[in-house]
This record gives sequence, structure tokens and C-alpha cells, in this order.
Amino acid sequence: MKINRKGMLLIVSGPSGVGKGTLVEILRKYDPNFKLSCSVTTRDPRPGEIDGVHYHFITDAEYDRMLAEDAFLEHAVVHDNRYGTLRKPVEEMLEEGKNVILEIDPQGAIAVMENPNVGPYVSVFILPPSYALLEKRLTARKTDQPEVIRRRMKNARIELAKLDRYQYAIVNDKIDVAFDQLLNIIKAEKQRTIRYMPEIPED
Ligand code: 5GP
Repeated sequence: MKINRKGMLLIVSGPSGVGKGTLVEILRKYDPNFKLSCSVTTRDPRPGEIDGVHYHFITDAEYDRMLAEDAFLEHAVVHDNRYGTLRKPVEEMLEEGKNVILEIDPQGAIAVMENPNVGPYVSVFILPPSYALLEKRLTARKTDQPEVIRRRMKNARIELAKLDRYQYAIVNDKIDVAFDQLLNIIKAEKQRTIRYMPEIPED
């Protein structure tokens, strides 16, 4: 029986501060065939962030040019910064049989899921154990002003209301439990019938 060698497109989304980055990092270490799509952004690099690794840090003019060239699989403004997933590297990696992770915000995730030109995907929404705990985590990060946190919490309310657009949900209370649940989803998805191409002998 032949197996469809195309990679899996894994969309991991959820509100800011929910811990999707940590989950993705653990998955990449666990299975190096999962590659993270390196997005472009117009925001400034944070200390320790490397251009071409964490993001491609670009100017607004470069972003506008990429938009005009239709280079993005999806793009969104998240908390006043512009982000985009580059279409070409994602398609190439999938063709090469690599699994590609899109760790993107819910606007971008829904755009990918609603795009009729996108092939099969697996979409996972990461939920906080509670709305109050999400606020606590954002406050504990100490990276945002109270006004920014308020805006993120308002966005979270809108994002949580769209949970039913996703195939799977994981509550990120304990990271090892959440990762185990993510692995279970991946294991089941690998057995989907679409990944097999039966060779039926002539009668
Ligand atoms: P940060 O600036 O903290 O790295 O990311 C802010 C938010 O933007 C996170 O929710 C992250 O998942 C999201 N994000 C990162 N890259 C992309 C992208 O290419 N597209 C979209 N739509 N969101 C992104």
C-alpha cells in the first residue's frame, strides 16, 4: 500500500499568552520532521531573536511589496504589528514530505482554513484553563503595559468565540499533558485515509 508522502500542515493557534510557542518548541525537539514556518514581521526583534530563525524581520515597504506580489499564504495585523506566512517555503516543505507548523494568530488560522487552495490541514486551538488565568499569565510576563493587556484580553474574547472553526482543542493547563494530547492528535491524523493511496489490482 502506497503512503501519500506529502507532509502534514499543522495549524497551531490560540490567544496571546496561551503557551502555543512552548508547545511547538517541544514538538520540534521531539520530532525534527516538524518544521516551523518562519514568518515575516514588521515588528522589531526582541533580545535574543535571530533574523531568519524566529522571524524574517522586514520593513513596511518590503511587506507591502510582498503583499503586492501575493507572496503570503495568509497575513494579519496582530497587536499593531504586521505578520505574514510565506506561501512558497510552506508549499516546498510539504512537497518534500516535511510536516509544517504554522504558529499563527486566530485571524491567520481562519484565513488558511477558509482558503480553498489550501490542501488538507490539521487545526488545533490552544485554550487557557480559564479566562482569568490567561490575564494572570499576560500580567506575569511583564512585557506589556496594562492597556496592552486589556486589548489582548478583549481580542481573546473574540478569538475564543470562534473555537468551533477548529478541528481540535487542547486546554493548556499542564504543559506535559497538553503536549501528550497534541501528540495523540498527530498520531491519529497520520492514520487518516487521505494519507494512503490504495493500489487495487485489476480484476
Ligand atoms: P509575537 O510578536 O509575540 O512573536 O507574536 C504575536 C502573535 O502573532 C502570536 O499570536 C503569533 O502566533 C502570531 N503570529 C506570528 N507569526 C504570524 C504569521 O505569520 N501570521 C499570523 N496571522 N500570525 C502570526
